[in-house]
Amino acid sequence: MGRVQKKAGLDRLALFLSGLCLIHCLALPFALLLGPVLSGWLLETETTVHWFLWAMALPISALALSRGTRRHGRTSILWLGGLGLVMMFAGVSHILGDEAEIALTVIGVLALLTAHLINLSATHSLSHPPNHANDQQAADTHA
Ligand SMILES: [Zn+2]
Repeated sequence: MGRVQKKAGLDRLALFLSGLCLIHCLALPFALLLGPVLSGWLLETETTVHWFLWAMALPISALALSRGTRRHGRTSILWLGGLGLVMMFAGVSHILGDEAEIALTVIGVLALLTAHLINLSATHSLSHPPNHANDQQAADTHA
């Protein structure tokens, strides 16, 4: 159980970081309405924050998703997560231009987020097989 929770913890950490980035990215248009000080600060820190989040997401997601895939065998999660990380990198590295950074990052983060959500639920259903004796007992108690 402890090992399973630790693995789920990596997924949750990845989800938390993805959420932070989305809030950060989506706050920018609102900050532009609120005033130049806040929006200036967000624009200045945008790329730094994204490099930081990407550097954090890369090892966490690689570890959590590859471990998950080894358990539940859904390689599509690796492709989705990989695609997300590539898009986040394309955004933060500005190879497609500064303007594309937020759009690419948001799409990439959403892909990564989805991969971790599927990974979490797939790993969870594996560690709680429906015909498991303990679960059957629990189901009986709840019924
Ligand atoms: Zn962001």
